[in-house]
Amino acid sequence: MSVPETSPKLDFIREIIADDLVFGKHSTTITRFPPEPNGYLHIGHAKSICLNFGIALENAGIGAKCHLRFDDTNPEKEETEYVESIKADVKWLGFDWGSDLYFASDYFQFFHDCAVHLIREGKAYIEQQSAEEMRVCRGNLNTPGTPSPGRSRSVEENLTLFARMKAGDFKEGACVLRAKIDLASSNMNLRDPVLYRIMHAHHHNTGNAWCIYPMYDFAHPLEDALEHITHSLCTLEFENHRPLYDWFIENCPVPSKPRQIEFARLNLSYTIMSKRKLLELVQGGHVGGWNDPRLPTISGLRRRGYPPAAVVHFCKRVGITKFNGTTDVALLEFDVRDFLNHSAPRRMAVLDPVKVVLTNWAAEPLTVATLANHPQQPEMGEREIPISNEVWIEREDFMEIPEKKFYRLGPDRHVRLKGGHIIRCNGFDKDPNGNIALIHAEILPGTVGADSPAGIECKAAIHWVDVATGLDAEVRIYDRLFTVEDPDSAEGGFMSVLNPDSLKTITAKIEPSLATVDPGFSCQFDRTGYFVADAIDHQPGVKPVFNRTVALRDSWVKKGAR
Ligand code: ATP
Ligand code: MG
Repeated sequence: MSVPETSPKLDFIREIIADDLVFGKHSTTITRFPPEPNGYLHIGHAKSICLNFGIALENAGIGAKCHLRFDDTNPEKEETEYVESIKADVKWLGFDWGSDLYFASDYFQFFHDCAVHLIREGKAYIEQQSAEEMRVCRGNLNTPGTPSPGRSRSVEENLTLFARMKAGDFKEGACVLRAKIDLASSNMNLRDPVLYRIMHAHHHNTGNAWCIYPMYDFAHPLEDALEHITHSLCTLEFENHRPLYDWFIENCPVPSKPRQIEFARLNLSYTIMSKRKLLELVQGGHVGGWNDPRLPTISGLRRRGYPPAAVVHFCKRVGITKFNGTTDVALLEFDVRDFLNHSAPRRMAVLDPVKVVLTNWAAEPLTVATLANHPQQPEMGEREIPISNEVWIEREDFMEIPEKKFYRLGPDRHVRLKGGHIIRCNGFDKDPNGNIALIHAEILPGTVGADSPAGIECKAAIHWVDVATGLDAEVRIYDRLFTVEDPDSAEGGFMSVLNPDSLKTITAKIEPSLATVDPGFSCQFDRTGYFVADAIDHQPGVKPVFNRTVALRDSWVKKGAR
């Protein structure tokens, strides 16, 4: 099965951009991806990255660019660790900001100057009411706001007070700077929003140079305008902030006039996307860190073994619309399987081993079995795997009393060991608990690489690992992190619907070649799924550790409403 091609039809944002170019509104297009460095990026951000950097790439011929801008205007939540992880994630997805790397904190002086400009124009004033008083005086949808005494203060007085705010004369919360727009506006965002607040905090870039910090709504349009962004693409929740965005662009001394366009954010079933909630999972120890393979973070997906091309393809396929919805995570898994099916070499590993002893091995001892590295791609070559008289097979490949349509091993039945002999089971031992402990079988000489002899029914080939040369590996089997489709709306909160079985660690048997692969090596374990050597814990030749990227089939569908 292959993934349907993405439609060549332009989405509404690309249509707007194409029109602006045709009508000469701009000679090129400049977009930006503006993360706040207060957490790791998740797959929702990947959608925004693919959109913004994608548009730049598509228009590279006319000099289009996409800026990577860290929106680091809030000193309290930001850390350089996040800056580095964000850069690594954007690169991993295959995008390049070139020399266009910016930090909003480099514009603090400009924001300040714009604020002073607004004060001089009589369009901003110092507010000394408490946050609670301001909230009450702002009114509501049925009642216009009421002006506070500060609103009629003189320009001179406002300038002095603002200078004192900046100089650190006031405690946090003592006053703020507000825009003077419209207290009766039906859009609450226009009812004299706060522009600046006092925060006596150390900033990762500017240190202690500032103790007043701009609000996001004020800073963002100014950042865009300073960087000559043509189209500022954001998610739908900013739609009713757009009049405010435009007001700042109209009323501040900015060098360009960017246009804000909103699109629907990506939501995925069975997961959560808010950085605040992801941080809660990380800090609470519910997962192993920001790059835990169960998280929808880009670093989690990477460690899980998702190919970046599959993530990018998925983001394109989801498309850009104005309608919020939830995308089935199975769609993402489908893309991951599809990409890995083409690119991942095949290897053998037995996840739930039971031993088979081949009682007549001496009749035709084989020393190596030869297997293709990919069933459809001969250019990926072959490999030789040692084999001897004892092999591990998957417990589920044997049935004491075979069901209808079970074509694998059972008493007096035949099955082929991939790349090796057809074998016939002629007995088994059980342990005291009644589980199969050992299977006795014999090889059918002359069947390596040959059809089954007349009168022998052998419809299946199973994977195996040689007991003498196979190795133990730690294998991590991941399942969905939450048991319900929409964890955010769970009655007891998202923490109440964590899946207790989201991680199972097992000891599997692996073919010898797997022990020495590099961290990040991705392959299919024949018949079980796609696996990747863990980027952090896998030690080649010392301690093999593999993560299951995705099972071969969507087992969740079968499990149904669990
Ligand atoms: P979160 O809500 O997860 O904390 P955020 O919006 O606060 O995310 P930012 O760092 O501000 O995170 O996001 C950077 C960019 O990524 C913004 O332009 C934002 O609109 C976009 N973005 C964030 N989440 C999504 C999403 N789920 N789908 C699409 N774009 C998103
Ligand atoms: Mg944000």
